Amino acid sequence: MDGQTKPLTRTVNLILLGPPGAGKGTQAERLVETFGFKQLSTGDMLRAAKKSGTEMGNRVAAVMERGELVTDEIVVGLIEEQLTTAQADGFIFDGFPRTLAQADALGALLEKTGQSLDAVIEMQVDDAVLVERIVGRAEKARAAGEPVRADDNAETLTSRLATYHEQTAPLIAYYGEKDVLRSVDAMGSIDRIASDLGAIVANVHET
Ligand code: AMP
Repeated sequence: MDGQTKPLTRTVNLILLGPPGAGKGTQAERLVETFGFKQLSTGDMLRAAKKSGTEMGNRVAAVMERGELVTDEIVVGLIEEQLTTAQADGFIFDGFPRTLAQADALGALLEKTGQSLDAVIEMQVDDAVLVERIVGRAEKARAAGEPVRADDNAETLTSRLATYHEQTAPLIAYYGEKDVLRSVDAMGSIDRIASDLGAIVANVHET
């Protein structure tokens, strides 16, 4: 990629699928810059609800701090709201879906809004690298005097990883059967991973 914006000329919707710390948020931002997608991060939406102290935000705070999943109903509701109101040439789903029920609900919502799912990109990273990255992310934020995510600590991370393997990893086979699954090695440099993802998007866009 050359850092230039390459606007999408047709709608492309994709999911970034991977464990906590795989770099989904970082790479989603890069794809937004390059192609003009709209990023839909359920984690960001839930943190915003928590910060503004809404009733739902207060309800999910403890679940998030334990590294568990909030209910399918809540996150599907957040995504439905965006899909029916936001204007975009393409959406990047970041951190959603995380369960088979959410994946089914997303399929139904896309169908209802006349849209397709063009690619699901699995970001592959070893668990040991994830732990290093997340603990590093928290240390960097602390050193910079920035707020540290309540769930970015070694204890909650163990639970977030277990949740990923139990509830979210089955989506790899689910989307594999639907022929939309791609994967990238997400353990190298941010630029190299961005370039691999950009190549997949360009390929999907042209076909
Ligand atoms: P994330 O920023 O994607 O790592 O999400 C942070 C936390 O928000 C997760 O550990 C869950 O507690 C909650 N969360 C985010 N997205 C979802 C989802 N799709 N389903 C259930 N819980 C979610």
